[in-house]
Formats: sequence, C-alpha cells, structure tokens
Amino acid sequence: MILNNRTKCRCPSCGAEQTWQDECRRCRTDLRELRLLNESIQSLERKLTEALDVGDYRQAVRCAQKLEQVDPVLLKEILQQLNLSQDFQ
Ligand SMILES: [Zn+2]
Repeated sequence: MILNNRTKCRCPSCGAEQTWQDECRRCRTDLRELRLLNESIQSLERKLTEALDVGDYRQAVRCAQKLEQVDPVLLKEILQQLNLSQDFQ
C-alpha cells in the first residue's frame, strides 16, 4: 500500500477521524458509500502498483485512468510517490 493514511476515514459531516465503519461514531452519518469508494480506490491503487511491478504499463495506465475518474488529486499523489508524474502527463 502506498498511502497508509487511507486506513482512517474522516466523517464528511462532523470531521471526526475514525477507522472505517458503516456509520460515524459521533454523528451517525452513513459512511458506507465513502467506505466502498475507499475500497475501490485501494484496489485500483494496488492493481496499479502490481502492474508497474511486473512492467505491464498498459494495465498501469488503465488503472491510472480509472483512478483519475474517481479521485484525480489522489492519482497525482500516487504518481508523485512513485516518481511517475512525468510519465503520465
Ligand atoms: Zn460524523
């Protein structure tokens, strides 16, 4: 995992930081969709690094493009951490 701060979630309503769960422990906001989104981001992130590890750049670009649709800011962070921001821009 590239970004280990993804293991915690911040409630969009009250800002309480907590481990991932279906509802906020403080204000009971439904966090399920957020959690699912986080899971798909993590799995894309994993696929992207795996693809890079085996040198499958076509697959890596595919994952990067999907990540960009979900969270372009995060994709930038990931690419910077992988020192790849040049290659994808
Ligand atoms: Zn909350």
